[in-house]
Amino acid sequence: MPRMSHPHLPRVPISLDEYNELYTLVFEELDCDDEYPLGTSISLDPSCSEVDVYRKLPSSPRIEYGGYITAESIQYWEGDAESVIIEQNKLCTWHSHPVTHPWADLPSWIDLHRFLRYPNVRHILVGNRLLWVMDKDEDTVAYCRRLLEWEAANLTSTFSSILDTAKARDARSDDVWCEATQMYAITVLREIGWDSVKDWPDQLERDPLSSSVSLLREQLGIAVRLYLRLSHTAGTNLS
Ligand SMILES: [Zn+2]
Repeated sequence: MPRMSHPHLPRVPISLDEYNELYTLVFEELDCDDEYPLGTSISLDPSCSEVDVYRKLPSSPRIEYGGYITAESIQYWEGDAESVIIEQNKLCTWHSHPVTHPWADLPSWIDLHRFLRYPNVRHILVGNRLLWVMDKDEDTVAYCRRLLEWEAANLTSTFSSILDTAKARDARSDDVWCEATQMYAITVLREIGWDSVKDWPDQLERDPLSSSVSLLREQLGIAVRLYLRLSHTAGTNLS
């Protein structure tokens, strides 16, 4: 993962060797070897500001998009209504929620779990009205380490148990796997210290522009900046 100096790309928060070691210390091989669909590319003008790059990220009323950002371009592909494959070992990754979803403007439990669990250093969530720019810094690395070490000891047994419970409750449902994945993410985030993790969706009814940002910093060590998506608000940093 190279170091880059483009403003829309993050810097690895610790030495590259240490960072790579963190993400291979616990799991010998990262399980992010999905087959990636053929994507689309948007070229970036070098004069584009950081937030204006993120404002080019596409979204749809009904499906998720996801991909990654390089120095020169945005790469992306389509997902479905609930998820999209993300190439998690890229420096700067992103995904968009369907804008009509009631929780479009909030990262999901699975989004937060995956951000800490995989080596991407920055992840941008494109919501309906908001852009969430989530970064890992030195403080975040401690939470990543805690999560990875917990998973090394508990992932298989915990996920199996959650999956069995979900199947027993509704054996016919096609959504059992999705439900178990979400419940697993909630479990892991609670295990690494987020006591009120279940209350997270209520943030949208409270004050997402300040309390959500400080909550993610305090509970998961994630550095968040929020921006409005609309171009007429260019440069407005709501954090
Ligand atoms: Zn999401």
